[in-house]
This record gives sequence, C-alpha cells and structure tokens, in this order.
Amino acid sequence: MKLFERTRIGTMELKNRIAMAPMGTAGLADVDLGYSRRLIEFYAARARGGTGMIITGAAIVNTRLEGGIPHFLPRLTGSEYMARLSELCDAMHHYGSKLVLQLSAGFGRVNYLQWNLIPPISASAVPCFHDPSVTTRELKTEEIGELVMSFAMAAVMAKMAGVDAIEIQGYGGYLIDQFQTALWNKRTDQYGGDLNGRLRFSMEIIGAVRSLVGRDFPIIYKFTPDHYIPGGRTLEEGLEIARRLEQAGVDALHVDGGCYEVWNRVIPSAYEPPACQIPLAEAVKQAVKLPIIAHGKLGDPDVARQVIEEGKADFVALGRPLLADPDWARKVKDGRINDIRPCINCNEACLGKRLSLSCTVNPQTGMEREYALTAIEKKKSVLVIGGGPGGLEAARVAASRGCDVTLWEKSDRLGGKLRLAAVPDFKRDIRPLIHYLSSEVEKAGVKVVLRKQATPELVRQLRPDVVIIATGSKFALPDVPGVEQAHVLSTVDLFEGTKTVGQRVVVIGGGLCGCEAAAWLAGQGKQVAVVEMAGQLIPEGRNVNTMLAIKALLAQSHVEVMTSTKLVAITEKGASVERDGSTQELAADSIVIATGFTPDCSLRDTLEETVPDVVAIGDCAKPRSILDAVWEGFHAARVMQ
Ligand code: SF4
Repeated sequence: MKLFERTRIGTMELKNRIAMAPMGTAGLADVDLGYSRRLIEFYAARARGGTGMIITGAAIVNTRLEGGIPHFLPRLTGSEYMARLSELCDAMHHYGSKLVLQLSAGFGRVNYLQWNLIPPISASAVPCFHDPSVTTRELKTEEIGELVMSFAMAAVMAKMAGVDAIEIQGYGGYLIDQFQTALWNKRTDQYGGDLNGRLRFSMEIIGAVRSLVGRDFPIIYKFTPDHYIPGGRTLEEGLEIARRLEQAGVDALHVDGGCYEVWNRVIPSAYEPPACQIPLAEAVKQAVKLPIIAHGKLGDPDVARQVIEEGKADFVALGRPLLADPDWARKVKDGRINDIRPCINCNEACLGKRLSLSCTVNPQTGMEREYALTAIEKKKSVLVIGGGPGGLEAARVAASRGCDVTLWEKSDRLGGKLRLAAVPDFKRDIRPLIHYLSSEVEKAGVKVVLRKQATPELVRQLRPDVVIIATGSKFALPDVPGVEQAHVLSTVDLFEGTKTVGQRVVVIGGGLCGCEAAAWLAGQGKQVAVVEMAGQLIPEGRNVNTMLAIKALLAQSHVEVMTSTKLVAITEKGASVERDGSTQELAADSIVIATGFTPDCSLRDTLEETVPDVVAIGDCAKPRSILDAVWEGFHAARVMQ
C-alpha cells in the first residue's frame, strides 16, 4: 500500500506517509511550559502506534512581545527547554518515527484576551477576533526583526535537541498569516502593500532559519491557500504563495483551509464530508513540485489510502483520528480496520469543554500513563445494565481488566442514544463508534444479553459483585397546555421513526439535539422553525466549531430560528409562543419537543442495600453528552478494585 511506502521530505527519511497533524496540546506541558513527561507520553503513544511523522502542536518562539499567549502551549524560547525536547525526540526515534516541531511567531489578533496583560499585537491595528472592540497594536519594524531572530534561534535549538524538521506556522490567521493577508495587513511600509510586502515577514523567517540550520535541515511551511471568508485569501493568491514558498527553499508544504472566522472548516465538524480539504491540497500539488501534506477528515483508512494512491497529496495528516486511536497506523497496516476506535468529529474533548486536550471516545488521550489499565487483582463478576456508550465502555474496560462481565440491554440492539444521534446522514460519523464499541465488548468476552429488562429481583438472582447502571435518561415533556396531543412528538419518536411528521414543523428547544432535528427535517423538504427560550441557540459550553457548523447548517437548510421565544401552549393548529412580551401563533402540522431529558436512578436506589458495589454512570445519573457517558463508563471500570 502506497500509504506505507518509505519516502522523504528533504533529507528526512520517513517510514510511511502518515503524519500526526499539529494540535494545540492544552494542559499537557510542564508548569514552565516545557515538554512534560505527560506530553512526551502523549506523542510516544502515537509514535508507538506506527505514525511515521509526528508534527507537534505549536511551540511559541517569543514571549516578550505577545502577552497572554495561551498558557497551555509549549515554548522554545531558551536553552532551558532543550533537554526535555531532546527526550521527546528520543521517544519518537525509539519507534522509528520522526519529530517535526511546529514553531509559532504568535497569535496576534486571534489571541485569547482574557489572559492578555499587554495589548495584543498584529501586522496592523485591526480588531481582535475574540472581541472586536479591542484593537491590536501594530508591530514596529525592530520588533518584526526580533521575532525573525527568535524564530531562527528556536529552529537552531530544535535542531540541536534532535528534532528532525521544523514546521513554520504560517496558516489559519495566526500572526504570520496576518502579515500575509491584505484583510489584516494594512501596513504602508516594506512589510505591507502588495504580496511581496505581505510575504516579507515569512520570507525573512525562512531565510533566517535556513541560514542558521543549513541547507540539509528540512523546513516545512504550513499555510492557508484559501481563507473561505469574504476579503480573505482566495485560491489564486494561495497558489502564488505556494510557488513563492517553493522558490524560497522550503522542503514541503502543509495545506490547510480557513481561519478563525470559519474555524469549523479548519477543524471540520461532523457535518463536513470526508476529505473536505483535499481539493485545496490537490490544487497546491499541481502548482508546485514540493511534497504536500494534506488533512481534513482523512480518518477513514479507505479515504486516506485513496488520497495517496490518486496522487492528490503526498502525506495524510491525521489529528483527531490519532487522539481517538493512537494505533491507527499500525491497525491499518495490519488490516485491522474494524479495530480502529473512530473519531466522531464532535470536537468536545479536543476543542470544547475540557482545559486539557483529550478525546470523547478515548479518555486515555493525554493521560496515557495515569489512566493505563491494569489487570484486576481479584476477579469480579460485573453486571452492566444498559448498552449505550457508557455501558459498552464500562463493559469493555472491565472485561479487558479480567472481570467476568455480563451486559443486559432492554432493547434488541446495542448503542443506546448513539443510534438515535446517528440517524441523520450528516451525523454518520457516529455510526462507526456504535460498531466499534459493540464489537469490542464481543471481543473482550462480555456476555451480552439483549431484550433483557433489569429488575431488582433479576439482579439479586445473578449475585454480581459489582453493578454498573447505565440505563440512560427519560424524555421530559414541558409542562404546557396541549402537550399530550397527537401531533406532538419527542426527538426520540422522531429519530426512531415511530410517528409521522407533517410538512410544517415547529421544534421546541434550540440545543444541539433540537437544531439537528430541525436541520434533518428541513433536509427532507419540510418547513421548519426552531423556538428557543434563551437568547442564542446551543447552550454556552459547547465548542465553537459545533456552534458555527450547526448555525451554518440551519442557514443552508432555511430553518427559521426564533431565540428569546417561549412556548406558551400547543394548540391544534400549532404552537403559541411569547416573544418580546407579545404572543404569536405558529402554524404547524407537527411539534417536535427537544427540551431535554431527566435522570433515572431508581434502579441504583433499590439495589444499593443488597449489592456490594453499585454505581450509576452517564445519563441515568445526569443527562449529558456522549463524552460524559463514555468517560464515566471508562473510569467506573478502571478504578474498580
Ligand atoms: Fe474526535 Fe471528538 Fe475525540 Fe475530538 S473529542 S478527537 S472530535 S472523538
């Protein structure tokens, strides 16, 4: 398979064409932001899993000019960081992988203002992305020179530490890209104006790095050929930049599309199709002779293989697929495709609500050593009740630790609410997870019993040592007049297909589930409105990518969005809602309720006195996300003694 053929970038020899894409490693660095044991273990797991080239998340080269650099990013600003970087290199080399260190000049206008004690910087005075009322400070000429030298010095330290190549972070609307882009670079000196001026900062960095590291040390440049926003870069200029970078002597180009304004396209959501950035990579590949690194939903092995075999790119860079499964490359090479734990493109743990980088479907990500599973000392019989994501994960982990595990599921299939979440085609990324978890419990030797409704009596008859209750939550209807009428259905009814839906639909509840229900129905040609009591769709705390993506999907589907609007009653003809103090009648043939679920811990409460160890996990304890269910299932079985 061409994906696994040996190749090279400049003088760097690589065992395959699989790269780990650079990702921000929030929370994993040492307190002084050097490479910690935890960070080294994180990358080592991906190297051990067969990845040929590990490209690190950005390391900051200068902290004097830019305040509030995200506190979680490692840095390479002095020799005190070199020994730990060297250990990281060694860890990669032990597994035959190469380490590419991405270096960043800074964040500029996309910096996180809440941590900023000094004004944000940029090529010019432009509004900040996170708060447009704050304007950046234009860098002085001598400060640009300082950044160029910091970059070159960091590259030298990297080379001395044993790094195999560096990657320049010139993409995505970060500081270097702000210089390159007319939308953000308003300078009238030699660093602004036409493309020559806007590229001067990048060219000086490349020149300074090259003069210090020598011709033989590979330099990869990550850039954005198309920002996908009005006024941003278009592909025509992007291809010209690619040609100029080639002339400047870089050894490979890493292609990425988009910027912070459309971050859901840089780190694609579930709603984007596979290989969504490949057209860009292919266009750049045709414009230059350099090796091209591509990414953007390439986690399906068939898709990755096809991209390489059809010559659309020279390397596939996998980010989130390697968070979900560090052994992706080895499993593909061994033909164990069904063993790959799939990324579901939820962005919840890698971008969303956790301060440390991790993964919804793989709680060990970023905690490789701390959460390593050990065999249980004294074998136990474990009963897991509920075959949703939490129950399946608990059963898998308990069985892999050596327990005797039985799983009861009351329906005729495994998957729980994952099955409902995966119904819309635009949520197809969830389907492989159902398959993965189901087959893992089978391989681990779990005794799965379908159509088994747990009762306290049946549980006592089995006499398990431990019961893990993962029975999920109950649907909650809002307390409004008319809610019991026949044309009212829940999202469970909707996705299970147990009730028919009319042409005009009002969805009550603008959380993620309600928005997806609305988009799905609109995609079937129905006329749909979403009613949300809060001032915005999707509660605070969901990741920005999902929010941007679902809003784009609703707009494309022509769903009417009504925020700050309260359901007052359901009538025979539709819904009565209150907005700005006045009541409005919304005509509808069907009303879909998406206002949430309530927990159900009744079984735990009845068992607690007779079973030695009972634990409730996931939605039955408190309705939340797939992440919470999987993580609680994992930890319930991991800490069992
Ligand atoms: Fe993929 Fe979600 Fe894990 Fe991120 S958190 S790597 S998107 S499964």
